[in-house]
Amino acid sequence: MDKQSVLAKLGIDTVTEGASHGSWLATTGPQIVSENPATGRPLGALAAARRPDGQLVLARALERFAEWRLRPAPRRAELVRRLGELLRRHQAALGELFSVEVGKIRSEGLAEVQEMIDICDFAVGLGRQLYGLTMPSERPRHRMFEQWHPLGPVGIITAFNVPGAVWAWNAAIAAVCGDVCLWKPSPLAPLSAVAIQELCHQAMHAEDADGVFCLLVGDADVGKWMAEEARIPLVSFTGSIAVGRSVGTTVAARLGRAILELGGNNAVTVLADAPLDLAVRGITFGAVGTTGQRCTSTRRVFADRRVAGALTERLVRAFASVRVGDPLEEGVLAGPLVSARAVERYEETLALVRQQGGEVLVGGQRLDRPGHFVAPTLVRAPRQASFPIAWDETFAPIVYLFEVESLEQALADQNAVTQGLSSAIFTDSLRAAERFLSAAGSDCGIANVNLGTSGAEIGGAFGGEKDTGGGREAGSDAWKAYMRRQTCTVNWGDELPLAQGVDFPLD
Ligand code: NAD
Repeated sequence: MDKQSVLAKLGIDTVTEGASHGSWLATTGPQIVSENPATGRPLGALAAARRPDGQLVLARALERFAEWRLRPAPRRAELVRRLGELLRRHQAALGELFSVEVGKIRSEGLAEVQEMIDICDFAVGLGRQLYGLTMPSERPRHRMFEQWHPLGPVGIITAFNVPGAVWAWNAAIAAVCGDVCLWKPSPLAPLSAVAIQELCHQAMHAEDADGVFCLLVGDADVGKWMAEEARIPLVSFTGSIAVGRSVGTTVAARLGRAILELGGNNAVTVLADAPLDLAVRGITFGAVGTTGQRCTSTRRVFADRRVAGALTERLVRAFASVRVGDPLEEGVLAGPLVSARAVERYEETLALVRQQGGEVLVGGQRLDRPGHFVAPTLVRAPRQASFPIAWDETFAPIVYLFEVESLEQALADQNAVTQGLSSAIFTDSLRAAERFLSAAGSDCGIANVNLGTSGAEIGGAFGGEKDTGGGREAGSDAWKAYMRRQTCTVNWGDELPLAQGVDFPLD
C-alpha cells in the first residue's frame, strides 16, 4: 500500500503544508518525514509548522472564538454531527491510513475511526446537555445557579499511537462546549493528521465555522509554545510522563489549565478461581494489541501461585500463536513497532530483563525482515521489588509474569509503581472483585473485572492517577474541563440581605 493510493481514497492529492485554520497555510519549517513502519520506507514529507505559524493560526482561531462562543450549543453540535458523518463515509480509508502510518492492524485502524465516530455522536447529544445546577439560596427572594461558558482556544498535543481518536475525544467535546482547537499531532503520524484536517475543512466550510479546528504539524517546539502561550487557557497533553511533566509545569507556571494523559504500567491480577479462558484472551490482547503500544497495554501480570503454572503454559502458547506481520494482511494480529528507535528500546529492555533475573519464556527478539518487527514477549519475573525494569513503561509487547501468594500481595505490588492508568482482575469471587474495586483496592483510573486493561469505551471518563497525570477525557462529565463555571445569584427582592447573616447597618 503506498501513500498515494491511501491518500487518494481520502480525496487528497498532495501533502505539503503543515498548518491550517480552515485552509492550508504555507509552512517553512524543517521537513517532517512520515515513514511506513512495516517497510521502513518514507510515505511522504511536509514542511513543519513553527511558532510564527502558531501565532497566525491562533489569531484566526481567536477571531472565530469570539463568534463561536455565542452560537447556541445545539447549533455548534451540527459541526460535529457533520464531522461524524464524514468519518463514517471515510472510515475504511482513514483506518487504512492509520495502519500504514503507525502500524495498527486493519481491525484496530477501523476501530480507532469508530471511536472517533462514537465521540462525535456523544458530543452531538452533549450539545443539549451542558447542564448547570440550581441550588437554594439562603437569602430570601434570591435565585442561585451555576452556568457553564466556553473557555477559549484549547491546545491539543497528541502521541503517535492514537493518531486520530485522542484528538477526537478532545476536539469533538471542546467544539460543542464553544471552544476552538489547535492540534499538534505527533511528528510520527503527520499524514493521518492532515487527512483528518481535510475532513474538518469540509465540515467547517459547510457550517461557516473555519477556525474551530486548527492544525499545526510540528516538532516539540510547537508543543512548548502551546504550553507557554497565555492565550491558550487549556492544554490537553497526551504522551510520555517525562514530556507531560514538563508541559504540566510550564502550563501551571502561567496558572493555565492542563489535562495530562500520560504513561501507564498496567497490571492484571489472576486469582485461583479465575475464568482462565477469559484471562488468557484478555492478557494476550492487552499485550499484543497495537503491538504493545497502547497507554493501557498490559505490562504486568500477578498470578496466584495455585494457577500460575497453568496460566503460564497457556500464555506461552497464545503468545507463540500470534501472527506478526503486515498490519493490513488478513490473519495478522500484531504489526510493527512504530520506529527503529522503538525496536532498540525493546532490545535494551530485554537486555535489562536478563540482567535482573527475568526469564524470557516466549519471544524476545526482533524479526529478521524489513520494517520494525519484534516478537511478542512473555517474561517470568522474580519478585517485583527486585526487578526494577518492571517499574517503567516500555512501549513494546513485553509482559512480566509474577507469582503472588494472595490478592493482598497482588494489590500491593500493582499499586507500588508510580503510574496509575489501567488495572484488571480475573476472579469468580464477588468478594475479591469488590475488594479490588474498593477504596482500598486498585489505585488506577481504570479498574476492570474479568476483562483486560486495554480497550476503553468513550462513554466513561478516561484517564489515570499519580504519574499518569490525573486528567480525564471523553465521556461522562469530562466536558466540564473544557468550560468555565460561573456561579450566579440574582436578587429579585427589595432588600439586600447579606450571606451568613452579616449585619451591616448603613444610614
Ligand atoms: P511523547 O511524549 O514522546 O510525545 C507526545 C507529544 O508531545 C508529541 O506530539 C511530541 O511531538 C510532543 N512533545 C515532545 N516534546 C515536547 C515538549 N517539550 N513540549 C510539548 N510537546 C512535546 O510520547 P509518544 O512516544 O508519542 O507516545 C507514547 C507515550 O504516550 C506513552 O508513554 C503512552 O503511555 C502515552 N500515551 C498516554 C495516553 C493516555 O491517554 N494516558 C494515550 C496515548 C499515549
